[in-house]
Amino acid sequence: MRNPFHLAPEQAQFGPELLRAEVDELYKRTWAALGGLFLVLLVMRSVLRDAIPQHPILGWVFWGMIGVIVLRSSVLILFGRLEDPQTRLRAFMIGSTLIALGFGLMNIISYPLLEVTDVALMAIMSAGICSGALMSMGSSFKTYAFYAVPNLGSLLLAVAFGPQTRWTHHMIILGTTYLAALVVLSLQQALAHRREVLLRLEMAEMALRDNLTQLRNRRALIEFMSSESEHVMRSWKVTQDPAHPKVPSNLGILMVDVDHFKAVNDTYGHGAGDEVLKQLAAILVETARKPDLVVRWGGEEFVIVARDVDRRPPSRLAERIRERVEQHPFLLPSGQTIQLTCSSGYSTFPFALDLPDLLSWEQIITVADAGMYFAKTHGRNRSVGIVSGSKLQIDSKVLDILQQSLEQAEALELVDLVV
Ligand code: GH3
Ligand code: MG
Ligand code: MG
Repeated sequence: MRNPFHLAPEQAQFGPELLRAEVDELYKRTWAALGGLFLVLLVMRSVLRDAIPQHPILGWVFWGMIGVIVLRSSVLILFGRLEDPQTRLRAFMIGSTLIALGFGLMNIISYPLLEVTDVALMAIMSAGICSGALMSMGSSFKTYAFYAVPNLGSLLLAVAFGPQTRWTHHMIILGTTYLAALVVLSLQQALAHRREVLLRLEMAEMALRDNLTQLRNRRALIEFMSSESEHVMRSWKVTQDPAHPKVPSNLGILMVDVDHFKAVNDTYGHGAGDEVLKQLAAILVETARKPDLVVRWGGEEFVIVARDVDRRPPSRLAERIRERVEQHPFLLPSGQTIQLTCSSGYSTFPFALDLPDLLSWEQIITVADAGMYFAKTHGRNRSVGIVSGSKLQIDSKVLDILQQSLEQAEALELVDLVV
């Protein structure tokens, strides 16, 4: 059986679907293991009743001992420092020796004479459990088969050489010990995999974040937009179907750039520049709404994807950001505060109501960038929106024209400016 946790490198990407499948698998296993544990306890309770010493105090001692063993292994497995294979092995050896000793003690009390075969069986049982623990250091399902061999061997030995009167007794003990250890091993494996999955989730999370500002990075934007843009496009196609009139969803795309940021670095040092970027990131996150995506596009440039902006360009968001940045006293590591401004350009995706396929979301980023550039060349500390004009056609090459000259694109009524 293929281990579902061992993914091929190209599959071990950060696709949320794959991770969800892994976590689901993990939960299934954990629940199966817990079910097994419950069964083991049931079996022990009912069939071992005969083997449990009749003396009330010794009976309590026996159950107390089993309780301590179960508790101890659970605590070790759940909270213990079991990442270290040595500790894991030691825990198993101690646990299995205690179980074997417990059953041995029970044997002595139940039957006055302890036979050599009893001692041999207990030794083999311990060896079986320890070898199971050793095998479990690898993460293969073969573990269980390897583990079963010494146990079955000891069972055969019991049948061949053990006193006839104690067969069932030995089988029950062996069976329950085997089941209990199997449960422990499954749980242990499940938890090891959980650690692996969490680690991978953390790595995936880190790969999608910008280190300095903790905002999402460009890669996260691409991942987000590849599904979001599809969703938006579908909603526009549905809208055009008269049988299902529906309000289409829309994305506002905003590009923000700090004005004269280089001067901050040059005057106060790179550390001060970094501090400004962190504070700016916080302002952007606070100003945007929860479902919006705030991305560090690179350097001192940020992109915000505003979701469902009811077909209006995100001019209010752009202005709110501009005002907040203008009013914010940026606190530098030296204790000084400075005032800064920012410029932004924005547009919407899809670009035109009647031509939803005209520009891709990547091209809308370029449009927003052109708006930002226009803001820079027209005095900075302002926001410029670019929306579709009345003469826009499917073949108007709007992107080429507006990149060459925004004014010309506006004069041709391919776009309208919101300033
Ligand atoms: P404009 O108003 O035209 O945007 O001018 P500007 O100075 O803000 O723009 P310019 O592109 O000339 O400079 C951007 C600077 O941002 C240059 C680069 O050293 C700096 N920068 C980029 N990334 C970082 C960073 O992570 N930390 C710091 N401290 N500076 C950065
Ligand atoms: Mg700048
Ligand atoms: Mg810049």
